[in-house]
Amino acid sequence: MVTVLDTRKVAEASPRPRHPEKAHRPDTEVLPKPDWIRVKAPVTPGYFETREIVKSNKLVTVCEEAGCPNIGGCWDKKHATFMIMGGICTRACSFCNVATGLPHALDPEEPASVGRAVAKMGLSHVVITSVDRDDLPDGGAEHFVQTIRAIRAAAPGTTIEILTPDFLRKPGALERVVEAKPDVFNHNLETVPRNYLTVRPGARYFHSIRLLQRVKELDPTIFTKSGIMVGLGEERNEILQLMDDLRSADVDFMTIGQYLQPTRKHHPVIRYVTPEEFTSFETVGKTKGFLLVASSPLTRSSHHAGEDFERLKAARLAKQAAA
Ligand code: SF4
Repeated sequence: MVTVLDTRKVAEASPRPRHPEKAHRPDTEVLPKPDWIRVKAPVTPGYFETREIVKSNKLVTVCEEAGCPNIGGCWDKKHATFMIMGGICTRACSFCNVATGLPHALDPEEPASVGRAVAKMGLSHVVITSVDRDDLPDGGAEHFVQTIRAIRAAAPGTTIEILTPDFLRKPGALERVVEAKPDVFNHNLETVPRNYLTVRPGARYFHSIRLLQRVKELDPTIFTKSGIMVGLGEERNEILQLMDDLRSADVDFMTIGQYLQPTRKHHPVIRYVTPEEFTSFETVGKTKGFLLVASSPLTRSSHHAGEDFERLKAARLAKQAAA
């Protein structure tokens, strides 16, 4: 756990604080991690191979930028989540390790670079996410479209999952992205509505719910997905209510994972949720009608995304057959 603001080089800039907006905050108390949270250091040949492809194509990954604990396992299996539109985000969520600031201009070559990397890695399923780009008139929707098209051209057999920002106050942006027909549309709620002002202050809970609902209205063939972190002070009943809200929006797949604090300046971990509680969320979620619920301490929205996509397709077919 670092105690000072991280000044590692951000993706396209010279060294600068990643979180200038958090610099004034007092250090928070840090809870000792329980045994079930520990992960191994990434040292395998597969990990280094993935790192080489990422670096040589000058790509940014959320795996690195968010300091994801699963990076060793995922990169070993050549599964990385590409983060397009740069490594600087216009929002300043209190849980997130992605750098905050004024982003750079879009790189018009980036969609093709992502397409090439996906083809080279031979991925059957890829996850593409982005920083929030409130500075762009369309919130980056067209760049998502170009990236989806570039992947389809370079790797036609690869299924595409996108994890998007909320496109708040960007009329028409969502519709453009849905038209490009990703296989899975993911947008994370991140936490329960009561926490939004402290955890996700730039976002609006019901806007995010409506965004997910709108994807299904526009194209019911696209799988929809959303995720939350727990351990941010939420109550169990609030999670159950959030599940109902997602089901009202016809969301297919929900992910639930433990929040981990990137630095002492970020939102504190209020508590570590036990593996048994995670299992219980999965059980309850399934009874509420999700096609799939992934719930464990190290679940992240892109973790095992390829395998989960296969399970999603099978679950939809089984539901249709039973109807
Ligand atoms: S869980 Fe997602 S963000 Fe984390 S390493 Fe795996 S692909 Fe990257």
